[in-house]
Amino acid sequence: MIVVMSQEASRDQVEAVLRKIEEFGLQTHPIYGVQKTVIGVIGDDKTKVVETMAGYPGVEQIIPILKPYKFASRETHPQDTVIELSGVRIGGDKVVVMAGPCAVESPEQILNTARLVKLSGGSILRGGAYKPRTSPYSFQGLGEEGLRYLAEAREETGLPVVTEITDPRKIDLFCEYADIIQVGARNMQNFVLLTEIGRSGHPVLLKRGPSSKIEDLLLAAEYIIKEGNRNIILCERGISTFETYTRNTLDLSAVAAIKKLSHLPVVVDPSHSVGIANLVTPMSMAAVAAGADGLIVEIHPNPNAALCDGSQSLDFETFSALMTKLRKVAAAIGRDV
Ligand code: PEP
Ligand code: MN
Repeated sequence: MIVVMSQEASRDQVEAVLRKIEEFGLQTHPIYGVQKTVIGVIGDDKTKVVETMAGYPGVEQIIPILKPYKFASRETHPQDTVIELSGVRIGGDKVVVMAGPCAVESPEQILNTARLVKLSGGSILRGGAYKPRTSPYSFQGLGEEGLRYLAEAREETGLPVVTEITDPRKIDLFCEYADIIQVGARNMQNFVLLTEIGRSGHPVLLKRGPSSKIEDLLLAAEYIIKEGNRNIILCERGISTFETYTRNTLDLSAVAAIKKLSHLPVVVDPSHSVGIANLVTPMSMAAVAAGADGLIVEIHPNPNAALCDGSQSLDFETFSALMTKLRKVAAAIGRDV
């Protein structure tokens, strides 16, 4: 961190700032220029300097050098994090495809979907049991019953399941049923929930909020990782922009940026990004080409009859065709699907 003193700062003010920083247990390296003095600050925890010294007499600017998301940053952990669960590696050479319905609707629906995911070469089954719906009158999901149907589908197919939590009080239930706990876009900054998941140590898929910056997403991940849980998969799922043709705008640059800024694996949700089924295939291919470690795609045995997000869900045939196309894109960049 660098503390820049103003041109008018007196020698006494510089001395007072140096003493204050050293009181925090940090080292100071002042450079006395002709016009201005700048102070290099070295030490582990510089939060006190940021919090208390911005308005200090003679201080013009405080410039952090390291990223504020310490543990999620590549600066402190240069090698990629690979998350291993039930034989699936997320963040390695293989692009991991997670697929399933928006919501679990019945045992047959989720089981048939799981069989198709497995048959097509997908690695993880998705399905919401607790749905965060804009309207309280929309289908809210089957709740615990839905979690049980997911567990039955996992039992038969061996596919690990990812499902969304909406209530921090249900953390134990989710640790029992879900291989990966999904934190939805709406809950990205539910800090109590993030902390609880951090303490659980359970693998988590953390979605980017529709109005959140990349740095906000990485700071949300920091809430989890600082509790000791490194099993975090980040997910780009589209952000709100002025465009209304698509449900959200898929920010593919976020994938490349996050791979640079963080060691955590990144997946893309093309379905919620575009909201239109016939745009899901091209965006999935683009996501893999951009370096995404995986995809989470909504599929349904009969999208027209889906209780939730049918218009963005792929039917089985289109999903199988997508998997074939993804293999070619992945091969072109030296990866497998
Ligand atoms: C979902 O995956 O079903 C979902 C609700 O997604 P998001 O949180 O990205 O809107
Ligand atoms: Mn959905």
